[in-house]
Amino acid sequence: MAMIQVSNLKKSFGNLEVLKDVSFEVNKNDVVAVIGPSGSGKSTMLRSLVYLEQVSGGSIRIQDEYLVKEGVYGDSQKIKQITGKMGMVFQHFNLFPHLTVKENLEIAPRVVKGESTEAISQRSTELLEKVGLADKANVYPAKLSGGQKQRVAIARALMMNPDILLFDEPTSALDPELTGEVLQVIKQLAQEHMTMMVVTHEMGFAREVANQIMFMDNGEFVEAGTPEQLFTNAQFERTRTFLQRAL
Ligand code: ADP
Ligand code: MG
Repeated sequence: MAMIQVSNLKKSFGNLEVLKDVSFEVNKNDVVAVIGPSGSGKSTMLRSLVYLEQVSGGSIRIQDEYLVKEGVYGDSQKIKQITGKMGMVFQHFNLFPHLTVKENLEIAPRVVKGESTEAISQRSTELLEKVGLADKANVYPAKLSGGQKQRVAIARALMMNPDILLFDEPTSALDPELTGEVLQVIKQLAQEHMTMMVVTHEMGFAREVANQIMFMDNGEFVEAGTPEQLFTNAQFERTRTFLQRAL
């Protein structure tokens, strides 16, 4: 069964149709790079998966449960349960500035789950080690570089043990010399078979790390394929045009 199944998703902001009948599937262990021009609906699509946007029609199934089925959402408890399977990392990190790095990691599990303080603390220590920031546990976000902030945001998302991680342009706010350290962490997660969707403009990264590339344009899912298929043999002219400009 697919980890994510999206069917005929529709979303409008006022008169503007931002998602037009978008359908796709993500399987377990997939790393899907989502590419497409600015304004094509990539963020809206990703945000819809975690209920940061409410769609106007269509279905989203996460594993065996519907977040929304033919435009109808379940109750708030159901929504929480389903969105809790996913972690999201944003372009602008969204760390809590008044909390230390370690506190940023621990706040959500402390509020949400009936888990011991020791277990949470142990996991945050492990995850900071994993992203190479064990020595930054007690500093505040303002003291970190953009690349370090984003690695904290990834560790924070991992604290909830998600089955799926979603990234919305995780390196777009970073100076070029800091993108590598963030992409390296995502690459490591891919090697550990984390299921991920990554909206990105980093074509080299998409080609190297993703097993599926999904092209969106003008609110439509245009096509998806392996990097090889899309980069050398895209089916649609607009995909080829976009890739020629992006490479
Ligand atoms: P992308 O991430 O591919 O750049 P977005 O999903 O952010 O695209 O946006 C798709 C379209 O929806 C754009 O035209 C954008 O201006 C519009 N849009 C996004 N969010 C809102 C919003 N909250 N209100 C009105 N329009 C929005
Ligand atoms: Mg976007």
